[in-house]
Amino acid sequence: MDMIYLEKKPNHTKKIFGRRTFSRRDFLKYTGAIAGLYFAGPLINCPFLAWAGDRPRVISIHDPDATNYDYVTGYHWEYINQNVVNNMMTQGVMALTGKTNRADAWKSLIPYNSGEVIVIKINLNNSRDCDGNLNKINTQVETINAIIDGLTSMGVPGDNIWITDPSRRISDRFQGGISNPYIHYYSKDSCTGANYHSVDYVDPDSPDASVATCPAGEKILPSQVFVEADHLINVPLLKSHGAYVTLALKNHYGSVIYENFTRSEMHAYFNEGKNSAGCDLNKMNILADINNNPHIKDKTRLVIGDGLFGNAHTHWLETRTWEIFGNDDSNLLFFSKDPVAISSVMADYIMAERGWQDHEQLHAAASMGLGVHDHWDSFKSKNYSLIDYIPIDLDNPKVNRLDIDRSIRDLKAGSASEKEVKETITRYMEGI
Ligand SMILES: [Zn+2]
Repeated sequence: MDMIYLEKKPNHTKKIFGRRTFSRRDFLKYTGAIAGLYFAGPLINCPFLAWAGDRPRVISIHDPDATNYDYVTGYHWEYINQNVVNNMMTQGVMALTGKTNRADAWKSLIPYNSGEVIVIKINLNNSRDCDGNLNKINTQVETINAIIDGLTSMGVPGDNIWITDPSRRISDRFQGGISNPYIHYYSKDSCTGANYHSVDYVDPDSPDASVATCPAGEKILPSQVFVEADHLINVPLLKSHGAYVTLALKNHYGSVIYENFTRSEMHAYFNEGKNSAGCDLNKMNILADINNNPHIKDKTRLVIGDGLFGNAHTHWLETRTWEIFGNDDSNLLFFSKDPVAISSVMADYIMAERGWQDHEQLHAAASMGLGVHDHWDSFKSKNYSLIDYIPIDLDNPKVNRLDIDRSIRDLKAGSASEKEVKETITRYMEGI
């Protein structure tokens, strides 16, 4: 299924972070350059690495063995294979960073000093009680266990790892599934357990509050956990919110409260389907404003999209299989340092499954310099002009861009021949 989406308001920025960006023509020229290398050589000066490095990288790891729910027996979260998820996590952080072992990959993502705190923002939007036994989609325990394993592999003690979803309950079921007993939990109302804490929010006159662009002057008050933490890992789910996407930016909707508006009143300031109160949501958008608060923007080291299960149609119902994955579950994890770029890729999967979804939030965030927004050319080839997206299928290991990077490195180190590199590039081009 090939789909090309045209923006209602093309707003893909010309300059991002002051760097040169790449047009579709550049991409074709570049692909041509690879073909030229194949025919003419020499490969030693291949521009591949430099070209890729200009764009934010997004990785996805797909492994159909991650889940095996039959949609009849029990709950979907009883059918997740922790070992498979652990491997997906390790492959993902290594591919994102180019490091060859797990601890080095995590170290390069999080510049951790002894005593610092890492907070993980999960999505428990459907967790409204302390029981947690329901089939509706929430962050999967296995995804968080794999993150915690990665952090402890680089020496972070468990009690310096905090898990939070300030506006929801962290259920007993969720806490019981976390394998490390020293983790702390922060949410609106504590359930049970010695490591639970109730969240607090900063005051409107605090320097940690920030100001919305629209409604102009409205104070955004982050939860105290983000003020006290040193590093932030954002873990959104692969799901739609009905008519619009709810990914990395929306995942922080529950991280803050407002001075004068309630949470539900503020929906009008990011959702085109409702009255936007005069805001041009492509430029002024409360989700972009929230993510522009320094405690979120400056502390986010990594975004991991939990797509082990997903739902392209709604945020509040059960998990759902995907036609684009052969009527199987999505079985995906996404990785990026850029919350806008990873949301762009996750949004393209959702739109490939079900059609257009409003996402002015991503355009506004890109225009505010919070990251890079783009759309792929088609579901089949998944090429972006502005994003370095590398999909990795563990069950169907085609040659990917990282293999080319690796073989060129080997060539430079003298451990691969030019013929081998050309073969790798040929196989890559055949697989596109
Ligand atoms: Zn767009």
